[in-house]
Amino acid sequence: MEELLRRSEKLTMVGQLAAGVAHEIRNPLTTLRGFLQMQQRAKAINMSHTDLMLSELDRINLIVSEFLILAKPQAVHFQVKDVRFTLGDVISLLDSEAHLHNIEFEVHFPQDSVLVHCEENQLKQVFINVLKNAMEAMPVGGRITLRLDSDCPKHAVITVTDEGVGISKERLKKIGEPFYTNKEKGTGLGIMITQRIIEAHQGTLVIESEIGQGTVVTVTLPRIHAEAEQGNIGDNDIVG
Ligand code: ADP
Ligand code: MG
Repeated sequence: MEELLRRSEKLTMVGQLAAGVAHEIRNPLTTLRGFLQMQQRAKAINMSHTDLMLSELDRINLIVSEFLILAKPQAVHFQVKDVRFTLGDVISLLDSEAHLHNIEFEVHFPQDSVLVHCEENQLKQVFINVLKNAMEAMPVGGRITLRLDSDCPKHAVITVTDEGVGISKERLKKIGEPFYTNKEKGTGLGIMITQRIIEAHQGTLVIESEIGQGTVVTVTLPRIHAEAEQGNIGDNDIVG
């Protein structure tokens, strides 16, 4: 199994990221501008042009939306949540799409609650990103196993295991770099954003993969316990 440990140095490359965003957005804008100019000149525009314009607009939209997850205009709200419910919501959200692609989710949750201090929408985004990558890695379908492990008193350990195409050693090194993707319609922002969110939660992300076998993504998040939480009422809403 090859391993990718979280690489926080990648996450501080704000300048590089900004340049990347400008570059990625300029390409589709240039295409759109070209076709509009063509239409203006020749008053001729065909379906394949409009299709391309629409897909370029979609691409800009996707890139900007992914960034908005990080740069939300409203205040970030940390609260105590039972991560079983957070994960359950994400599974419900993706279930029908999974069925469409012949993918089955197998879910293992402990019986007792597993509390974490989190910005729940961002945490959901983490698991949406990871599960979507798993789904996209299984073009003919298969099983994705989502496991929440509560054996460790200090950490909630969440693993997502897929039976997909896997990631080569060389590619594994690059994953998490902004705009690194091998998908036609990918943005290459999912893992980078996921890493950012997990860092903000003092957690870790590890990706292990074997080509042709599948990938295991492990997320750990600091746990809190009900007793500790009761003594702390009012301290759990952090705005920042
Ligand atoms: P995107 O999904 O837009 O390509 P991500 O940052 O989410 O961007 O992922 C980057 C790349 O990492 C993907 O293009 C894919 O090559 C690889 N990857 C991520 N997760 C998996 C997985 N579960 N199985 C195989 N490849 C993966
Ligand atoms: Mg992705």
